[in-house]
Amino acid sequence: MDFLKRSLYRGLAGLAFAIAGASHACDFAEVRFVTDFNTARLDGCEQVAADKYRLHLRPENLPINPSPWYAFRMEAGEGLMADTTIEIVLVSHNGPARYTPKVSLDKKRWAPLPYSTNDNRMRFNVQLQPERAVYVAGQEIIDGTVYADWLASLPATGRVFELGASTEQRALLAYEHRVDQNAPWLVLIGRQHPPEVTGALAMLSFTNTLMFADTPEFVKFRDRFNILVVPNMNPDGVARGNWRHTSNGVDLNRDWRARKEPESKLLHDYLTALEKAGSEVVFALDFHSTHNNIYYTMPPEYEPENGEALQNPMLVRNWLNDLAAAVPWEVREKPGHNPSSGVFKQYVADNFAVHAVTYEVGDTTDRREIVQTADAAALSLVTRLLAL
Ligand SMILES: [Zn+2]
Repeated sequence: MDFLKRSLYRGLAGLAFAIAGASHACDFAEVRFVTDFNTARLDGCEQVAADKYRLHLRPENLPINPSPWYAFRMEAGEGLMADTTIEIVLVSHNGPARYTPKVSLDKKRWAPLPYSTNDNRMRFNVQLQPERAVYVAGQEIIDGTVYADWLASLPATGRVFELGASTEQRALLAYEHRVDQNAPWLVLIGRQHPPEVTGALAMLSFTNTLMFADTPEFVKFRDRFNILVVPNMNPDGVARGNWRHTSNGVDLNRDWRARKEPESKLLHDYLTALEKAGSEVVFALDFHSTHNNIYYTMPPEYEPENGEALQNPMLVRNWLNDLAAAVPWEVREKPGHNPSSGVFKQYVADNFAVHAVTYEVGDTTDRREIVQTADAAALSLVTRLLAL
């Protein structure tokens, strides 16, 4: 950029302020912060000095479990020097910083950025590229398109279909492998909470192993069990880059008792219809992310609300013991129940009298560890289910 232009906006430092959202961009002479893609999120931008910007993150509504999410693209202004480094301070309103910054040129391969945090602020530098946009996000971007492509890649012996439409009319996509009308169903769901990408990485690996592995256990499992996968339960929240909620501002994983959201109601109706048609849900997994790896389970002695005894009460305890023996890191189980919570695992236990587990992956868990654990979890689970 020319000297005059640079001087001009140096003089304006601190005055420039823009709201992303409607325009999908915060425009400054030096750099644009663009939010026109799925999962993108910024809630305001300020230039506070030359080459220094303060970006604001605000939740979709309150109250909320604070998981300040961000994803944006940076485009260099005209005439910008090739090696210009921009300092960014992310300010999370209503919650401490959670997701550490990552950078990508193609939204596929991501590298961590050095950063520092101070309560609700996170500071890092981004080097602009004169000819290319640079993506910055709190985690890898896995959006509705990634899910649709991935579902289409699953074996053609199954089918991809729409359970129905979300509040904002996005397809609630599912895949089912139906070997026999009366075979028991394994149900896998994910992404009730939009920023929980490490849980998504685990779900993708787990399902790929389940559907593609050609060792005898998996072949036998696919011969004897039906499988339903709903990888993106909250397509609106994911597309909007929400911190936690649906487009109605509802925590979907607190809605399984009331089922007021179309997404929970659609899956409930589908599972209920399967049971009416003569098959049974035998187990369900719901993939999430939190600070550390942990498996939230139903206690073996739990008495479901529908009055039936919990089937195969030791299934989960045995599965997680097997998993702990198969991986070199700790496998933590935390049993608990709260019938009024509206959590999916509780809903499964109360409605179908079977175990379900909230499979939580740490936000910063090593990505190879996520894959290795998910693969081992799939093998130990199918082995236990085949032995029922
Ligand atoms: Zn969650």
